[in-house]
Amino acid sequence: MSELKTQLLVIGAGPGGYAAAFYAADLGMQVTLVDTELNPGGVCLYRGCIPSKALLHAAKIVSESRDAKNFGITFNEPRIDVDKLRAWKNDVVSKMTGNLGLLAKSRKVAFIQGKATFIDSKTAKVQKVDGSSQNVRFDHAILATGSRPIPLPNISDSPLILNSTTGLELQTIPSSLLVVGGGYIGLELGTVYAELGSAVSVVEMTQGLLPGADRDLVTVLEKRLKTIFKSIMLGTKVAKVEPTAKNVKVTFENPDGKTSQETYDKILVAIGRKPNSSDLGLENTKAKVTPKGFVQIDLQRRTTDPAIFAIGDIAGEPMLAHKASHEGRVAVDAIAGKKTVFEPKAIPAVVFTDPEIAWCGLTETQAKQENRTVAVAKFPWGASGRAMTLNRTDGLTKLILDPDTQRVLGMAIVGPGAGELISEGVLAVEMGSVVEDVKLAIHPHPTTSETIMEAAEGFFGHATHIYRPKKS
Ligand code: NAD
Repeated sequence: MSELKTQLLVIGAGPGGYAAAFYAADLGMQVTLVDTELNPGGVCLYRGCIPSKALLHAAKIVSESRDAKNFGITFNEPRIDVDKLRAWKNDVVSKMTGNLGLLAKSRKVAFIQGKATFIDSKTAKVQKVDGSSQNVRFDHAILATGSRPIPLPNISDSPLILNSTTGLELQTIPSSLLVVGGGYIGLELGTVYAELGSAVSVVEMTQGLLPGADRDLVTVLEKRLKTIFKSIMLGTKVAKVEPTAKNVKVTFENPDGKTSQETYDKILVAIGRKPNSSDLGLENTKAKVTPKGFVQIDLQRRTTDPAIFAIGDIAGEPMLAHKASHEGRVAVDAIAGKKTVFEPKAIPAVVFTDPEIAWCGLTETQAKQENRTVAVAKFPWGASGRAMTLNRTDGLTKLILDPDTQRVLGMAIVGPGAGELISEGVLAVEMGSVVEDVKLAIHPHPTTSETIMEAAEGFFGHATHIYRPKKS
Protein backbone atom coordinates (compact mmCIF):
# COMPACT_ATOMS: atom_id res chain seq x y z
CA MET A 1 0.00 0.00 0.00
CA SER A 2 1.32 3.43 -0.95
CA GLU A 3 2.11 5.87 1.85
CA LEU A 4 1.74 9.62 1.65
CA LYS A 5 3.45 12.04 4.03
CA THR A 6 1.74 15.26 4.91
CA GLN A 7 2.26 18.02 7.43
CA LEU A 8 -1.45 18.42 8.14
CA LEU A 9 -4.19 15.89 7.50
CA VAL A 10 -7.72 17.28 7.71
CA ILE A 11 -10.46 14.66 7.92
CA GLY A 12 -13.85 15.97 6.84
CA ALA A 13 -14.27 18.82 4.37
CA GLY A 14 -17.23 20.77 5.72
CA PRO A 15 -17.05 24.46 6.67
CA GLY A 16 -14.79 23.45 9.59
CA GLY A 17 -12.46 21.17 7.66
CA TYR A 18 -12.10 23.08 4.41
CA ALA A 19 -11.66 26.44 6.20
CA ALA A 20 -8.90 24.86 8.31
CA ALA A 21 -7.24 23.19 5.31
CA PHE A 22 -7.31 26.35 3.19
CA TYR A 23 -6.00 28.54 6.00
CA ALA A 24 -3.20 26.08 6.78
CA ALA A 25 -2.21 26.06 3.09
CA ASP A 26 -2.28 29.89 3.10
CA LEU A 27 0.17 29.78 6.01
CA GLY A 28 2.47 27.59 3.93
CA MET A 29 1.67 24.15 5.35
CA GLN A 30 1.50 21.12 3.15
CA VAL A 31 -2.09 19.90 3.57
CA THR A 32 -4.10 16.78 2.71
CA LEU A 33 -7.90 17.02 2.94
CA VAL A 34 -10.04 13.88 2.96
CA ASP A 35 -13.80 13.64 2.47
CA THR A 36 -16.22 11.03 1.14
CA GLU A 37 -17.81 13.54 -1.27
CA LEU A 38 -16.41 14.50 -4.67
CA ASN A 39 -15.58 18.03 -3.53
CA PRO A 40 -15.26 19.93 -0.26
CA GLY A 41 -18.52 21.26 1.21
CA GLY A 42 -19.69 18.82 3.86
CA VAL A 43 -23.21 18.61 5.24
CA CYS A 44 -23.58 22.40 5.15
CA LEU A 45 -23.18 22.67 1.39
CA TYR A 46 -24.44 19.27 0.22
CA ARG A 47 -27.42 18.69 2.54
CA GLY A 48 -27.75 21.48 5.08
CA CYS A 49 -27.30 25.25 5.23
CA ILE A 50 -27.01 25.99 1.52
CA PRO A 51 -29.74 23.82 -0.08
CA SER A 52 -32.13 24.72 2.75
CA LYS A 53 -31.49 28.43 2.25
CA ALA A 54 -32.06 28.09 -1.50
CA LEU A 55 -35.42 26.46 -0.80
CA LEU A 56 -36.27 29.01 1.90
CA HIS A 57 -35.62 31.77 -0.62
CA ALA A 58 -38.15 30.16 -2.95
CA ALA A 59 -40.59 29.81 -0.04
CA LYS A 60 -40.18 33.49 0.84
CA ILE A 61 -41.06 34.54 -2.69
CA VAL A 62 -44.27 32.52 -2.45
CA SER A 63 -45.20 34.09 0.88
CA GLU A 64 -44.28 37.63 -0.23
CA SER A 65 -46.36 37.29 -3.37
CA ARG A 66 -49.29 36.24 -1.18
CA ASP A 67 -48.72 39.11 1.29
CA ALA A 68 -48.67 41.65 -1.56
CA LYS A 69 -52.47 41.54 -1.71
CA ASN A 70 -52.40 43.59 1.51
CA PHE A 71 -51.19 46.58 -0.48
CA GLY A 72 -53.12 46.08 -3.65
CA ILE A 73 -51.08 43.63 -5.71
CA THR A 74 -52.66 40.27 -6.36
CA PHE A 75 -50.92 37.35 -8.02
CA ASN A 76 -52.44 34.08 -9.14
CA GLU A 77 -51.66 31.03 -7.03
CA PRO A 78 -48.04 30.08 -7.80
CA ARG A 79 -47.46 27.07 -10.05
CA ILE A 80 -44.54 25.14 -8.64
CA ASP A 81 -42.35 23.10 -10.95
CA VAL A 82 -40.70 20.87 -8.34
CA ASP A 83 -38.27 19.37 -10.84
CA LYS A 84 -37.00 22.79 -11.87
CA LEU A 85 -36.82 24.03 -8.29
CA ARG A 86 -34.88 20.91 -7.28
CA ALA A 87 -32.54 21.29 -10.27
CA TRP A 88 -31.87 24.95 -9.39
CA LYS A 89 -31.13 24.06 -5.77
CA ASN A 90 -28.84 21.21 -6.88
CA ASP A 91 -27.12 23.58 -9.29
CA VAL A 92 -26.40 26.05 -6.47
CA VAL A 93 -24.86 23.19 -4.49
CA SER A 94 -22.75 21.81 -7.34
CA LYS A 95 -21.47 25.27 -8.33
CA MET A 96 -20.41 26.03 -4.77
CA THR A 97 -18.82 22.65 -4.07
CA GLY A 98 -17.13 22.68 -7.51
CA ASN A 99 -15.67 26.09 -6.72
CA LEU A 100 -14.36 24.79 -3.40
CA GLY A 101 -12.68 21.95 -5.31
CA LEU A 102 -10.99 24.54 -7.53
CA LEU A 103 -9.97 26.62 -4.50
CA ALA A 104 -8.39 23.52 -2.95
CA LYS A 105 -6.44 22.91 -6.17
CA SER A 106 -5.28 26.53 -6.43
CA ARG A 107 -3.96 26.32 -2.89
CA LYS A 108 -2.26 22.99 -3.64
CA VAL A 109 -4.30 21.23 -0.96
CA ALA A 110 -4.23 17.51 -1.85
CA PHE A 111 -7.90 16.46 -1.84
CA ILE A 112 -8.61 12.73 -1.53
CA GLN A 113 -12.12 11.36 -1.91
CA GLY A 114 -12.48 8.56 0.61
CA LYS A 115 -13.00 7.62 4.24
CA ALA A 116 -10.15 8.04 6.72
CA THR A 117 -9.61 6.03 9.92
CA PHE A 118 -6.75 6.33 12.36
CA ILE A 119 -4.27 3.46 12.55
CA ASP A 120 -2.25 5.24 15.24
CA SER A 121 -1.50 8.78 16.45
CA LYS A 122 0.54 9.57 13.33
CA THR A 123 -1.09 7.52 10.58
CA ALA A 124 -4.52 7.28 8.99
CA LYS A 125 -5.74 4.83 6.37
CA VAL A 126 -7.86 6.31 3.61
CA GLN A 127 -10.28 3.95 1.89
CA LYS A 128 -10.78 5.61 -1.48
CA VAL A 129 -14.00 5.52 -3.47
CA ASP A 130 -12.27 3.57 -6.28
CA GLY A 131 -11.70 0.70 -3.82
CA SER A 132 -7.97 1.30 -3.30
CA SER A 133 -6.55 2.49 -0.01
CA GLN A 134 -3.68 4.68 1.05
CA ASN A 135 -1.90 5.31 4.31
CA VAL A 136 -1.29 8.95 5.20
CA ARG A 137 1.43 9.82 7.73
CA PHE A 138 0.89 13.19 9.30
CA ASP A 139 2.59 15.57 11.70
CA HIS A 140 -0.82 16.85 12.82
CA ALA A 141 -4.42 15.95 12.06
CA ILE A 142 -7.63 17.93 12.39
CA LEU A 143 -10.77 15.92 12.79
CA ALA A 144 -13.84 17.66 11.36
CA THR A 145 -16.27 14.86 10.57
CA GLY A 146 -19.44 16.69 11.64
CA SER A 147 -22.70 15.17 12.75
CA ARG A 148 -25.69 13.23 11.45
CA PRO A 149 -29.44 13.32 12.11
CA ILE A 150 -30.75 11.37 15.11
CA PRO A 151 -33.46 8.95 13.94
CA LEU A 152 -36.66 8.29 15.87
CA PRO A 153 -36.11 5.06 17.80
CA ASN A 154 -37.83 1.77 16.89
CA ILE A 155 -39.16 2.79 13.52
CA SER A 156 -38.82 0.72 10.40
CA ASP A 157 -37.26 2.43 7.39
CA SER A 158 -39.69 3.88 4.90
CA PRO A 159 -39.34 6.30 1.98
CA LEU A 160 -42.23 8.19 3.60
CA ILE A 161 -40.10 9.00 6.66
CA LEU A 162 -37.74 11.83 5.84
CA ASN A 163 -34.81 13.32 7.71
CA SER A 164 -33.06 16.62 6.98
CA THR A 165 -31.06 15.01 4.14
CA THR A 166 -33.94 13.32 2.34
CA GLY A 167 -36.25 16.23 3.16
CA LEU A 168 -33.91 18.56 1.28
CA GLU A 169 -33.91 16.28 -1.76
CA LEU A 170 -37.44 17.57 -2.41
CA GLN A 171 -38.59 14.42 -4.20
CA THR A 172 -42.25 15.45 -4.00
CA ILE A 173 -44.43 17.94 -2.18
CA PRO A 174 -46.59 15.73 0.03
CA SER A 175 -50.16 16.93 0.55
CA SER A 176 -49.73 16.42 4.30
CA LEU A 177 -46.50 16.41 6.27
CA LEU A 178 -45.83 15.93 9.97
CA VAL A 179 -42.61 17.54 11.20
CA VAL A 180 -41.32 15.84 14.34
CA GLY A 181 -39.23 18.37 16.30
CA GLY A 182 -39.84 22.12 16.54
CA GLY A 183 -36.15 23.09 16.43
CA TYR A 184 -34.01 24.79 13.76
CA ILE A 185 -34.41 22.15 11.07
CA GLY A 186 -38.05 21.30 11.72
CA LEU A 187 -39.16 24.93 11.48
CA GLU A 188 -36.97 25.80 8.49
CA LEU A 189 -37.95 22.76 6.43
CA GLY A 190 -41.54 22.93 7.69
CA THR A 191 -41.67 26.49 6.32
CA VAL A 192 -40.35 25.34 2.93
CA TYR A 193 -42.91 22.56 2.56
CA ALA A 194 -45.79 24.71 3.87
CA GLU A 195 -45.08 27.49 1.37
CA LEU A 196 -44.73 24.96 -1.46
CA GLY A 197 -48.21 23.63 -0.68
CA SER A 198 -48.05 20.89 1.98
CA ALA A 199 -50.40 20.96 4.96
CA VAL A 200 -47.68 20.96 7.62
CA SER A 201 -48.18 19.96 11.24
CA VAL A 202 -45.39 20.27 13.78
CA VAL A 203 -45.08 18.17 16.92
CA GLU A 204 -42.67 19.30 19.63
CA MET A 205 -42.20 17.35 22.83
CA THR A 206 -41.24 20.33 25.02
CA GLN A 207 -43.63 23.14 25.99
CA GLY A 208 -42.42 25.54 23.28
CA LEU A 209 -40.84 25.81 19.84
CA LEU A 210 -37.07 26.34 19.65
CA PRO A 211 -36.28 25.32 23.23
CA GLY A 212 -33.48 27.50 24.59
CA ALA A 213 -34.39 30.59 22.54
CA ASP A 214 -35.90 33.61 24.34
CA ARG A 215 -39.70 33.27 24.50
CA ASP A 216 -40.48 36.86 23.42
CA LEU A 217 -38.71 36.15 20.12
CA VAL A 218 -40.37 32.77 19.64
CA THR A 219 -43.83 34.26 20.32
CA VAL A 220 -43.44 36.60 17.33
CA LEU A 221 -42.36 33.74 15.05
CA GLU A 222 -45.03 31.37 16.34
CA LYS A 223 -47.77 33.87 15.54
CA ARG A 224 -46.82 33.86 11.86
CA LEU A 225 -46.09 30.12 11.75
CA LYS A 226 -49.65 29.52 12.94
CA THR A 227 -50.84 31.18 9.72
CA ILE A 228 -48.83 28.84 7.48
CA PHE A 229 -48.86 25.58 9.44
CA LYS A 230 -51.98 23.47 9.83
CA SER A 231 -51.18 22.80 13.47
CA ILE A 232 -48.46 23.13 16.09
CA MET A 233 -48.67 20.52 18.86
CA LEU A 234 -46.59 21.39 21.90
CA GLY A 235 -45.79 19.21 24.89
CA THR A 236 -46.77 16.27 22.71
CA LYS A 237 -44.88 13.01 22.27
CA VAL A 238 -44.83 10.75 19.26
CA ALA A 239 -45.72 7.39 20.77
CA LYS A 240 -45.88 5.27 17.62
CA VAL A 241 -45.13 5.64 13.90
CA GLU A 242 -46.58 3.07 11.52
CA PRO A 243 -45.62 3.51 7.88
CA THR A 244 -47.67 1.71 5.24
CA ALA A 245 -47.11 1.69 1.48
CA LYS A 246 -49.20 4.85 1.05
CA ASN A 247 -48.97 6.90 4.22
CA VAL A 248 -47.81 7.04 7.83
CA LYS A 249 -50.05 6.54 10.84
CA VAL A 250 -48.83 8.44 13.90
CA THR A 251 -49.97 8.00 17.48
CA PHE A 252 -49.49 11.04 19.72
CA GLU A 253 -49.38 11.21 23.46
CA ASN A 254 -51.01 14.55 24.20
CA PRO A 255 -50.14 16.88 27.12
CA ASP A 256 -53.16 15.52 29.07
CA GLY A 257 -51.76 11.97 28.79
CA LYS A 258 -54.43 10.85 26.29
CA THR A 259 -53.47 9.41 22.93
CA SER A 260 -54.70 10.41 19.49
CA GLN A 261 -53.97 9.24 15.96
CA GLU A 262 -53.49 10.99 12.65
CA THR A 263 -52.37 9.90 9.19
CA TYR A 264 -49.89 11.85 7.03
CA ASP A 265 -48.49 11.43 3.52
CA LYS A 266 -44.98 11.81 4.90
CA ILE A 267 -43.22 12.67 8.13
CA LEU A 268 -39.98 14.58 8.57
CA VAL A 269 -37.88 13.79 11.62
CA ALA A 270 -35.73 16.66 12.95
CA ILE A 271 -35.08 15.85 16.60
CA GLY A 272 -31.41 16.81 16.76
CA ARG A 273 -28.05 15.63 15.49
CA LYS A 274 -25.27 13.50 16.93
CA PRO A 275 -21.51 13.75 16.37
CA ASN A 276 -19.81 11.43 13.87
CA SER A 277 -17.19 10.15 16.28
CA SER A 278 -17.49 6.39 15.87
CA ASP A 279 -15.73 4.32 13.15
CA LEU A 280 -12.80 6.73 13.05
CA GLY A 281 -10.27 4.47 14.75
CA LEU A 282 -10.00 6.95 17.63
CA GLU A 283 -9.35 3.97 19.92
CA ASN A 284 -5.98 3.62 18.11
CA THR A 285 -5.02 7.14 19.26
CA LYS A 286 -4.93 8.91 22.60
CA ALA A 287 -8.03 10.98 21.74
CA LYS A 288 -11.00 10.49 24.06
CA VAL A 289 -14.71 10.73 23.40
CA THR A 290 -17.23 12.06 25.97
CA PRO A 291 -20.34 10.02 26.90
CA LYS A 292 -22.34 12.22 24.49
CA GLY A 293 -20.03 11.24 21.64
CA PHE A 294 -18.13 14.54 21.36
CA VAL A 295 -14.35 14.40 21.04
CA GLN A 296 -12.75 15.84 24.16
CA ILE A 297 -10.77 19.01 23.39
CA ASP A 298 -8.95 21.86 25.10
CA LEU A 299 -9.21 25.60 24.42
CA GLN A 300 -6.98 25.27 21.34
CA ARG A 301 -9.17 22.40 20.05
CA ARG A 302 -6.40 19.88 20.76
CA THR A 303 -7.66 16.44 21.72
CA THR A 304 -6.06 14.34 24.45
CA ASP A 305 -3.73 13.16 21.67
CA PRO A 306 -1.15 15.94 21.16
CA ALA A 307 -1.01 15.43 17.35
CA ILE A 308 -4.77 15.44 16.80
CA PHE A 309 -7.22 18.37 16.93
CA ALA A 310 -11.02 18.29 16.62
CA ILE A 311 -13.35 21.07 15.45
CA GLY A 312 -16.99 21.63 14.56
CA ASP A 313 -19.99 19.46 15.42
CA ILE A 314 -17.77 16.58 16.55
CA ALA A 315 -16.13 18.85 19.13
CA GLY A 316 -19.30 20.05 20.87
CA GLU A 317 -22.25 22.43 20.83
CA PRO A 318 -23.37 24.67 19.29
CA MET A 319 -23.44 22.69 16.06
CA LEU A 320 -23.05 25.65 13.74
CA ALA A 321 -20.97 25.97 10.57
CA HIS A 322 -19.46 29.35 11.46
CA LYS A 323 -18.36 28.08 14.86
CA ALA A 324 -16.62 25.17 13.09
CA SER A 325 -14.80 27.48 10.64
CA HIS A 326 -13.58 29.66 13.48
CA GLU A 327 -12.40 26.66 15.48
CA GLY A 328 -10.56 25.44 12.38
CA ARG A 329 -8.56 28.64 12.21
CA VAL A 330 -7.76 28.42 15.94
CA ALA A 331 -6.55 24.82 15.55
CA VAL A 332 -4.36 25.76 12.58
CA ASP A 333 -2.89 28.73 14.46
CA ALA A 334 -2.12 26.40 17.40
CA ILE A 335 -0.41 23.94 15.03
CA ALA A 336 1.54 26.82 13.49
CA GLY A 337 2.80 27.66 16.98
CA LYS A 338 0.84 30.90 17.32
CA LYS A 339 -0.56 32.07 20.62
CA THR A 340 -4.27 31.34 20.27
CA VAL A 341 -7.37 30.09 22.08
CA PHE A 342 -11.01 29.65 21.15
CA GLU A 343 -12.80 32.14 23.37
CA PRO A 344 -15.65 33.83 21.50
CA LYS A 345 -17.94 36.00 23.55
CA ALA A 346 -20.65 35.90 20.93
CA ILE A 347 -21.37 33.00 18.58
CA PRO A 348 -24.34 34.10 16.50
CA ALA A 349 -27.25 31.72 16.00
CA VAL A 350 -29.79 32.24 13.23
CA VAL A 351 -33.02 30.39 12.58
CA PHE A 352 -33.87 31.11 8.93
CA THR A 353 -37.62 31.02 9.30
CA ASP A 354 -39.88 33.92 8.31
CA PRO A 355 -39.46 36.03 10.38
CA GLU A 356 -35.89 35.04 11.17
CA ILE A 357 -34.70 34.74 14.75
CA ALA A 358 -31.09 35.60 15.57
CA TRP A 359 -29.14 36.07 18.75
CA CYS A 360 -25.57 36.30 19.99
CA GLY A 361 -23.78 36.50 23.30
CA LEU A 362 -25.83 36.29 26.48
CA THR A 363 -29.54 35.61 26.10
CA GLU A 364 -32.23 36.49 28.63
CA THR A 365 -32.97 32.78 29.06
CA GLN A 366 -29.34 32.04 29.84
CA ALA A 367 -29.10 35.02 32.23
CA LYS A 368 -32.14 33.68 34.11
CA GLN A 369 -30.64 30.17 34.30
CA GLU A 370 -27.38 31.62 35.62
CA ASN A 371 -29.17 33.96 38.08
CA ARG A 372 -27.52 36.96 36.46
CA THR A 373 -29.15 40.37 36.68
CA VAL A 374 -29.24 42.07 33.30
CA ALA A 375 -30.84 45.17 31.85
CA VAL A 376 -32.80 44.64 28.64
CA ALA A 377 -33.37 47.41 26.09
CA LYS A 378 -36.07 46.57 23.54
CA PHE A 379 -37.33 48.22 20.38
CA PRO A 380 -40.50 46.92 18.69
CA TRP A 381 -40.49 46.93 14.89
CA GLY A 382 -43.98 48.45 14.89
CA ALA A 383 -42.15 51.76 15.46
CA SER A 384 -39.68 51.22 12.60
CA GLY A 385 -40.36 53.09 9.38
CA ARG A 386 -38.44 50.55 7.32
CA ALA A 387 -40.41 47.65 8.81
CA MET A 388 -43.64 49.48 7.88
CA THR A 389 -42.52 49.95 4.28
CA LEU A 390 -41.83 46.22 4.15
CA ASN A 391 -45.30 45.58 5.61
CA ARG A 392 -43.48 43.54 8.25
CA THR A 393 -43.80 45.13 11.65
CA ASP A 394 -43.68 41.69 13.32
CA GLY A 395 -40.24 42.19 14.78
CA LEU A 396 -38.39 42.97 17.96
CA THR A 397 -34.79 44.01 18.65
CA LYS A 398 -33.26 43.80 22.09
CA LEU A 399 -29.95 44.40 23.75
CA ILE A 400 -28.90 42.49 26.86
CA LEU A 401 -26.79 44.78 29.03
CA ASP A 402 -24.74 44.67 32.16
CA PRO A 403 -26.75 46.94 34.49
CA ASP A 404 -23.63 48.30 36.21
CA THR A 405 -21.13 48.79 33.40
CA GLN A 406 -23.75 49.17 30.63
CA ARG A 407 -21.69 46.79 28.50
CA VAL A 408 -23.47 45.01 25.69
CA LEU A 409 -23.51 41.34 26.66
CA GLY A 410 -25.87 40.07 24.00
CA MET A 411 -28.26 41.00 21.25
CA ALA A 412 -31.36 39.23 19.95
CA ILE A 413 -33.64 39.99 17.04
CA VAL A 414 -36.77 38.54 15.51
CA GLY A 415 -37.83 39.97 12.16
CA PRO A 416 -37.17 39.60 8.45
CA GLY A 417 -33.42 39.85 7.86
CA ALA A 418 -32.52 39.32 11.55
CA GLY A 419 -29.74 36.95 10.42
CA GLU A 420 -28.01 39.77 8.55
CA LEU A 421 -28.49 42.28 11.38
CA ILE A 422 -27.06 40.15 14.16
CA SER A 423 -23.43 40.66 13.10
CA GLU A 424 -23.59 44.16 14.55
CA GLY A 425 -24.37 42.58 17.91
CA VAL A 426 -21.42 40.19 17.52
CA LEU A 427 -19.12 43.14 16.90
CA ALA A 428 -20.59 45.13 19.80
CA VAL A 429 -20.13 42.23 22.22
CA GLU A 430 -16.66 41.25 20.97
CA MET A 431 -15.43 44.87 21.01
CA GLY A 432 -16.67 45.35 24.57
CA SER A 433 -19.02 48.16 23.51
CA VAL A 434 -21.21 49.90 26.02
CA VAL A 435 -24.81 50.75 25.16
CA GLU A 436 -23.86 54.37 24.52
CA ASP A 437 -21.48 53.28 21.71
CA VAL A 438 -24.41 51.63 19.95
CA LYS A 439 -26.58 54.71 20.57
CA LEU A 440 -23.95 57.08 19.17
CA ALA A 441 -23.17 55.04 16.06
CA ILE A 442 -25.13 56.61 13.18
CA HIS A 443 -27.28 54.00 11.48
CA PRO A 444 -28.61 54.50 7.95
CA HIS A 445 -32.23 55.58 7.53
CA PRO A 446 -34.54 53.96 6.71
CA THR A 447 -33.29 50.49 7.62
CA THR A 448 -34.23 47.85 10.14
CA SER A 449 -30.67 48.25 11.52
CA GLU A 450 -31.92 51.47 13.13
CA THR A 451 -33.91 49.31 15.54
CA ILE A 452 -30.57 48.40 17.16
CA MET A 453 -29.63 52.06 17.65
CA GLU A 454 -33.14 52.90 18.87
CA ALA A 455 -33.08 50.00 21.35
CA ALA A 456 -29.88 51.58 22.73
CA GLU A 457 -31.53 55.02 22.79
CA GLY A 458 -34.51 53.44 24.53
CA PHE A 459 -32.23 52.31 27.35
CA PHE A 460 -31.74 56.02 28.15
CA GLY A 461 -35.45 56.72 27.74
CA HIS A 462 -35.15 58.73 24.53
CA ALA A 463 -35.70 56.52 21.53
CA THR A 464 -37.00 58.90 18.85
CA HIS A 465 -39.84 56.72 17.63
CA ILE A 466 -41.26 55.47 20.91
CA TYR A 467 -42.29 57.45 23.97
CA ARG A 468 -41.13 55.54 26.98
CA PRO A 469 -39.48 57.91 29.48
CA LYS A 470 -36.88 56.33 31.72
CA LYS A 471 -38.16 55.64 35.20
CA SER A 472 -36.05 57.56 37.69
P1 NAD B 1 -32.72 21.00 17.47
O1 NAD B 1 -32.01 20.55 18.68
O2 NAD B 1 -32.63 22.40 17.03
O3 NAD B 1 -34.28 20.69 17.61
C1 NAD B 1 -34.78 19.41 17.87
C2 NAD B 1 -36.14 19.58 18.49
O4 NAD B 1 -36.77 18.32 18.52
C3 NAD B 1 -36.10 20.10 19.91
O5 NAD B 1 -37.00 21.17 20.01
C4 NAD B 1 -36.53 18.90 20.75
O6 NAD B 1 -37.21 19.26 21.91
C5 NAD B 1 -37.43 18.17 19.77
N1 NAD B 1 -37.57 16.73 19.97
C6 NAD B 1 -36.60 15.84 20.31
N2 NAD B 1 -37.13 14.59 20.34
C7 NAD B 1 -38.44 14.71 20.00
C8 NAD B 1 -39.51 13.77 19.83
N3 NAD B 1 -39.31 12.47 20.02
N4 NAD B 1 -40.73 14.25 19.49
C9 NAD B 1 -40.94 15.58 19.30
N5 NAD B 1 -39.95 16.50 19.44
C10 NAD B 1 -38.73 16.07 19.77
O7 NAD B 1 -32.25 19.99 16.34
P2 NAD B 1 -32.43 20.04 14.76
O8 NAD B 1 -33.52 20.96 14.35
O9 NAD B 1 -32.49 18.62 14.33
O10 NAD B 1 -31.07 20.67 14.30
C11 NAD B 1 -29.85 20.04 14.68
C12 NAD B 1 -28.72 21.02 14.80
O11 NAD B 1 -28.41 21.51 13.53
C13 NAD B 1 -29.09 22.20 15.67
O12 NAD B 1 -28.58 22.01 16.96
C14 NAD B 1 -28.44 23.34 14.99
O13 NAD B 1 -27.28 23.72 15.68
C15 NAD B 1 -28.06 22.85 13.62
N6 NAD B 1 -28.82 23.62 12.61
C16 NAD B 1 -28.60 24.93 12.51
C17 NAD B 1 -29.31 25.66 11.58
C18 NAD B 1 -29.07 27.11 11.46
O14 NAD B 1 -28.04 27.59 11.92
N7 NAD B 1 -30.00 27.87 10.88
C19 NAD B 1 -30.25 25.06 10.77
C20 NAD B 1 -30.45 23.71 10.91
C21 NAD B 1 -29.71 23.00 11.84
